[in-house]
Amino acid sequence: MNLFEHPAHELLDLLKAQKTSAQAIFESVFSHLKQSDKNIKAFVRLSHQLPDFGPAVPSRNYPIPIALKDNICVEGQEVTCCSHILEGFKPPYDATVTQKLKKSGALILGNTNMDEFAFGSSTENSYYGPTRNPWDTACVPGGSSGGSAAAVAAHEAVWALGSDTGGSIRQPAAFCGVVGVKPTYGRVSRYGLIAFASSLDQIGPITKDVTDAALLLNIIAGYDERDSTSVNVPVPDYTKALINDAKGLKIGIPKEYFIEGMDPEVKQSILEAIDVLKKKGAAFKEISLPHTEYAVATYYIIATAEASSNLARYDGVQYGLRLQPQETRKSAIVDMYEETRDQGFGPEAKRRIMLGTYSLSSGYYDAYYLRGQKVRTLIKDDFDQAFKNCDAILTPTAPTTAFRIGEKANDPLSMYLSDIYTISANLAGVPAMSLPCGFSKNGLPIGLQIITQSFAEEMMFRIAYTYEQNTDWHKRKVGQK
Ligand code: GLN
Repeated sequence: MNLFEHPAHELLDLLKAQKTSAQAIFESVFSHLKQSDKNIKAFVRLSHQLPDFGPAVPSRNYPIPIALKDNICVEGQEVTCCSHILEGFKPPYDATVTQKLKKSGALILGNTNMDEFAFGSSTENSYYGPTRNPWDTACVPGGSSGGSAAAVAAHEAVWALGSDTGGSIRQPAAFCGVVGVKPTYGRVSRYGLIAFASSLDQIGPITKDVTDAALLLNIIAGYDERDSTSVNVPVPDYTKALINDAKGLKIGIPKEYFIEGMDPEVKQSILEAIDVLKKKGAAFKEISLPHTEYAVATYYIIATAEASSNLARYDGVQYGLRLQPQETRKSAIVDMYEETRDQGFGPEAKRRIMLGTYSLSSGYYDAYYLRGQKVRTLIKDDFDQAFKNCDAILTPTAPTTAFRIGEKANDPLSMYLSDIYTISANLAGVPAMSLPCGFSKNGLPIGLQIITQSFAEEMMFRIAYTYEQNTDWHKRKVGQK
């Protein structure tokens, strides 16, 4: 096996046994990345400053090559959210997660492709063009963190960070056959994450297996006074939750999730996953999340409203792109705003700004945004109710496997529906993860979603680990179908 194919916990073992070095790991991953990414296009930019392995550099605890989604700030490194409007923007500071990664010794490779401002489920809405799914390059990698998930699946990075507002870590993880975790809202600081929908956004790990996800969450989690939504709850050692046993655990299966439109191969894999966990002692029961049918609509009211307000700051003055039209239309300043926003935002960003501005405008606010918030509370209550009777909820991550590039590009509604299973966890604020649980006949990965109560990531990791240790899906690698 090549060095670049190992998960981080194996690399750390090799390092401990002095069988490899940080530099050898970095060089293995980096040279593979440069070759492989010509085809996959997971990265939009490599780090302008590559790690130094000189004798003066203090030793690193976690010298693991990691890719960052193109909405996470690294001081002095261009970051654009894959939008034309942020072209040339270099943040003057590190995101908190970046700082934590640097302190742990992680090796930052570069920025990965995403849907513009994280608006999408396929990474096709990127200003830089689509990323390809490493399992089938005619297919999308999912989105919006498609570049991060594809980079890990293609072994172009050992770890990656993504952000998840409505499923953007979990759905691409499912489509690319890797592990993706959306932590509890407030668990990981968003300071230095370029905002999409502030009441929903969370940063989280994308890794090759469950152990690595626990290791990476250990590094990035924690209270941060610079993010007012960050919660001051101690961070446990998540690797201690990696217990291969589900005895005594009660797991709920929401009846509303087994609906028409679910691919039969996806359904079959989930049923088989239930059997694996039953054999390890878990008890399953049907539960109900009665407001599930309103989740997608509620999400698209709240997320677009918050996006329209967050995107108001891109006016050509402070960040990135600034354009002036040829001829004067109104006044120099208004012309500049209009031209910059007109040329700078892509079609999906414009659609969301219009939807969001509409639902926040006076006369419509009560009917849409405020109403959306009330339904959100009902959805959260569904989860509170469900967790009175179970330790975790098991669902598919997405109703289908990866679709073909271009297949849904002109049908925003069908694209929105690919988030049907992931969105509720963001609305409720609870943690959720996706891990590989099978492959379709066409060789495309299928994802299993585990949802637990707020700050119960340990329970989520325990169930995921138990499942993983009793199956072989995580060992299947791109290129050796
Ligand atoms: N696909 C969803 C959307 O388009 C979720 C995106 C995300 O989580 N950033 O909004």
